[in-house]
Amino acid sequence: MALPPLIFELSRPTTRHSYIPVSDIPGYIPLPAAELLRDDLPLPQVAEPEVVRHFVNLSVLNHHVDKGFYPLGSCTMKYNPKVNESLAALPSFAGLHPSQPVSTVQGALRLMKELEHWLIEISGLGAVTLQPAAGSHGELTGIFIVRNYHQMRGEKRTKVLIPDSAHGTNPASIAMAGYEVVSIPSNRRGRVDLALLKDALGPDVAALMVTNPNTAGVFENEIDQVAKAVHDAGALLYMDGANLNSLVGLARPGEMGFDILHINLHKTFSTPHGGGGPGSGPVAVRSDLEQFLPVPRIQERPDGSLDWDYNRPHSVGRMHGWYGNFGMHVRALAYMKSLGAEGLKNMTETAILNANYLLARLKGAYKLPFDPFCTHEVVFSADNQVARGIKAVDIAKRLLDFGFHAPTINFPHLVHEALMIEPTETETLDTLDSFADVMLQIDRESREDPDMLHNAPITTPVSRFNEAAAARTLDICYK
Ligand SMILES: *Cc1c(COP(=O)(O)O)cnc(C)c1O
Repeated sequence: MALPPLIFELSRPTTRHSYIPVSDIPGYIPLPAAELLRDDLPLPQVAEPEVVRHFVNLSVLNHHVDKGFYPLGSCTMKYNPKVNESLAALPSFAGLHPSQPVSTVQGALRLMKELEHWLIEISGLGAVTLQPAAGSHGELTGIFIVRNYHQMRGEKRTKVLIPDSAHGTNPASIAMAGYEVVSIPSNRRGRVDLALLKDALGPDVAALMVTNPNTAGVFENEIDQVAKAVHDAGALLYMDGANLNSLVGLARPGEMGFDILHINLHKTFSTPHGGGGPGSGPVAVRSDLEQFLPVPRIQERPDGSLDWDYNRPHSVGRMHGWYGNFGMHVRALAYMKSLGAEGLKNMTETAILNANYLLARLKGAYKLPFDPFCTHEVVFSADNQVARGIKAVDIAKRLLDFGFHAPTINFPHLVHEALMIEPTETETLDTLDSFADVMLQIDRESREDPDMLHNAPITTPVSRFNEAAAARTLDICYK
């Protein structure tokens, strides 16, 4: 497949038209005087239907979840109901200005308050802020809360522990908040090693940050003992809850002993993501930590109306210019209310079932590093294929030839040549089966035609390129 032409290459000098009639609106400010306008700008001259076709074709060259299966582990690239987009776009939501008087935005505040209630119920914690604009932003907020908590108790703690399976944003947020990052090796079962954790805990440790189920796709089934050890050492237990479609309706982080949790609305609760946002990473905390949440908080006045409360001396301050990404709040609440409690539980069960279905279909060909069952995502190692000279990246690239997005690869680092597959709850059995069939075919190709796998993809507009160089020396100029 050849690269599409640039819009400048479609340009023909004969196709120039002007459709803009002279305005007859009184007071209309006309275009600059003719002598100030230039005729020699090298703008492309392309007929309107050709422009439309050009951009429609470009829009489907990149993969996206509306085009095909997108099993990118940890990212939860699931299908989002379009009705929630329409709701977020209603003029009475989308047209609000954040500095409008509160008396004119009571409905919006009520909506945010209701979303906070749903998240409190789902998390089993005591209070929620909707301010953070991403999962990583929620992490930073959470670590600031950890800092203020210890400061108020007059304790100086300098370290935050994370397991070696942690998502890359975890150490970054910890370091940004001014703490030293200490990594704890996982045990042979892909989980927090309790003995090593106890060794690492001490009066200088402010918190342990874990993901549960963790990024190896397995549930931390000693989490109660982990929580006890952390609390006995005077530290707080933080949960990275980016991927909550593994827990909603089945288990609540607050009951596992977590003190602070961030939730990615743009992964679990119906917000398209990728391309840098906008996202939403609310943070839930146990009740006694509410005093540290960002300002302002929504508060109810005695007459039942809602207002912003800025008078919170122990707060970590503002984490966002305004109150969070409100359009995400609309989508998330619409999604929750349309599914209801039973529907949300069904979402979780289906996400787990779909991942275990792929695990069962693929475990004969791909090596399973830990448990015989997974949660909402399954992590394989490509070690069987590595023995034939094929790496995880070759398998990932070959999948593109079949119209599937690649899974996450080489993460988590504790799994050699990892393939992290997250089918999500929104895929049909037919889609899961065609993906599994292709994965099994690729395994056969690794025996029969390994060179073809080294050269994949062969049907995409561009084949393999140096991804590090492409990111570092990005060239987006048409000339
Ligand atoms: C996606 C993800 C994050 C970061 O969320 P962003 O919104 O991209 O900042 C953190 N932890 C885990 C486990 C994730 O999957």
